[in-house]
Amino acid sequence: MKFQTVPWHKQIWNPWCIPKHQLIAWLVARKALLLKERLLTLGIADDPDCLLCGRGIENHVHLFQTCEYLRKIFDELAKLLGVALPATDLCQLIENGQHSQLKKGVLLCVVLAAYYHIWLQRNKARVDGCLLRPALVTSQIMKVIKMRVGSRLKPSLPSRDVIWLSRFKLYL
Ligand SMILES: [Zn+2]
Repeated sequence: MKFQTVPWHKQIWNPWCIPKHQLIAWLVARKALLLKERLLTLGIADDPDCLLCGRGIENHVHLFQTCEYLRKIFDELAKLLGVALPATDLCQLIENGQHSQLKKGVLLCVVLAAYYHIWLQRNKARVDGCLLRPALVTSQIMKVIKMRVGSRLKPSLPSRDVIWLSRFKLYL
């Protein structure tokens, strides 16, 4: 039996990432979340409109790559972390970038946390009819990342990692 390779599998199962975030990212990579485009074909949704921006069809590509709401969160995170976070294939981009192992791990943790929070906000919008502003979601993500980084750091770090972490207030 031959199994299909899921894109990003190496990046998703990186030990820096948080398990519940990994699960959602895995479903995103497999395009397995039940989104409105699919729900509409099953007769469970009234329309395919994105609940976060109202300007696109809610499918995996829109929600996790091109949605305006997602882009605002990624733009904020990019500013806070001093890195470019373009729209497509972020995990691969980070993997191929000239970053240290630690920086790659932290950036992957950030991307997966963002996907998880996008999914939370989408569900909040669907159930409660409201959602948080992108800036608030960004600060929630940064709080989670700081805790994760704090729990995983080893005492002896290369100085370039210490400089990067300190510069972006991820190292206390
Ligand atoms: Zn959208």
